[in-house]
Amino acid sequence: MLNIAIIGGGPAGVMAAVVAAEKSKQPLNITIFDKGQILKTILYTGNGRCNLSNDIKNFKELASNYLRGEKFLYSIFSQFNAAKTIKWFSDHGLKLYTQKDNRVFPVTDDAHRLRVFFLKLLKKYKIKIKENYQIEKIEKVADKFKIYSSDYVLTFDKVVFSTGGNYKNPAVYNLAKNLGHNITELKPSLFALKLKDPNISTLAGISIESANIDSYFDNKKVYSTQGDFIFTHKGVSGPAIFKTTAACAFLNFNHYNSLILKINFLKNKNFDTFNEEILALIRDNPKKNIINLVRQFVPAGVADYLFKKNKLSPDKKAAELSKKERNTIVSMLAGSEFKAVSPVFDSEIVTAGGVDLKQVNAKTMESKICNGLYFCGEVLDIDGLTGGFNLQACWSTGYVAGVSL
Ligand SMILES: Cc1cc2nc3c(=O)[nH]c(=O)nc-3n(C[C@H](O)[C@H](O)[C@H](O)COP(=O)(O)OP(=O)(O)OC[C@H]3O[C@@H](n4cnc5c(N)ncnc54)[C@H](O)[C@@H]3O)c2cc1C
Repeated sequence: MLNIAIIGGGPAGVMAAVVAAEKSKQPLNITIFDKGQILKTILYTGNGRCNLSNDIKNFKELASNYLRGEKFLYSIFSQFNAAKTIKWFSDHGLKLYTQKDNRVFPVTDDAHRLRVFFLKLLKKYKIKIKENYQIEKIEKVADKFKIYSSDYVLTFDKVVFSTGGNYKNPAVYNLAKNLGHNITELKPSLFALKLKDPNISTLAGISIESANIDSYFDNKKVYSTQGDFIFTHKGVSGPAIFKTTAACAFLNFNHYNSLILKINFLKNKNFDTFNEEILALIRDNPKKNIINLVRQFVPAGVADYLFKKNKLSPDKKAAELSKKERNTIVSMLAGSEFKAVSPVFDSEIVTAGGVDLKQVNAKTMESKICNGLYFCGEVLDIDGLTGGFNLQACWSTGYVAGVSL
């Protein structure tokens, strides 16, 4: 019987194990090793609801949501895309639903349910689970793999690496490195940004809809996006910030050389259109305090903060405003600058970088330089945006690896 070791019992490794077992014409002896508990990572996904996919039908459009790995995923998604994933879960008895924004969740809105679902499948296919079992070394001897933990050495015919992303602990990638694989630079992606501003905590909890955010680094515009975000105690977070950090993951911004975020709070209005609008408002409301007029465009807390930051008097009557002061108000709403210095500690969702895709066959997920060794999930140099894309990559690469096994 073919002996298969799956190193890492996250969503990708478990998917590969189940698919291998159910597709194989002959019985397989499959063991999943995990240094902790299997599928523990899934419990924290989607704030406990588990956003497990994104129902985009066209595979190229689906792949465009990955900052790293887009082209590689064309081949993967042409074999197992979001629609096939959703059908796979439903055929195996897990009911899902799709939100208006295409994000897919279990109908129970409960990540535990997904874990239980997979545990049942692992039992059904008699897949062995070795938890609290850290693999420390792998050697290829002739056409077999020797797998070392602190206590045992076990021999397998095929191995799947599904150890996840871990930019904080690059040693995890040594298992792949020691078998000749190149690991691309590792960085966090999808994180909240810490801002260099002692007063930022006064804005904590205020959310902004459809802001335009332009990012600059080393005096060059590096990214533009539109979307929602939220101020936190230390900085900013939310969908538009996650997109920005994914795009800027490999820029080495810091306290001395920050990533400048130019935020337009005015939903696509530029300086000139907003200038016209505020002039008309001032004309119609000359006796009102100017800050009350500004509060029509941004939450009160943001108006107060921006007035203070730009040393404007909130009590000034609209009619008393100088042209310079009006220009300052228009500029601060149409493009306020914030300096981002680092990720907020422990806020990152995925690792960008990983096993070099050039060394992996996209039709099978088998290593091109080590026969019998397969990769799936976040250990690869693949990372997507928020919205279920990272788990989708796990299901798809796991499925392809499982079929090939
Ligand atoms: C807070 C949070 C929320 C998220 N929410 C979402 C979401 O809603 N939707 C989405 O698409 N993505 C989400 N993600 C990302 C998603 O969870 C990951 O992309 C996904 O879990 C990666 O799966 P994986 O199987 O590749 O690796 P992992 O889930 O990281 O699993 C790898 C496993 O390998 C084990 N392991 C590592 N090294 C060894 C070793 N040497 N020996 C034995 N075992 C080992 C680990 O213990 C772990 O269990 C979220 C991530 C976080 C942190």
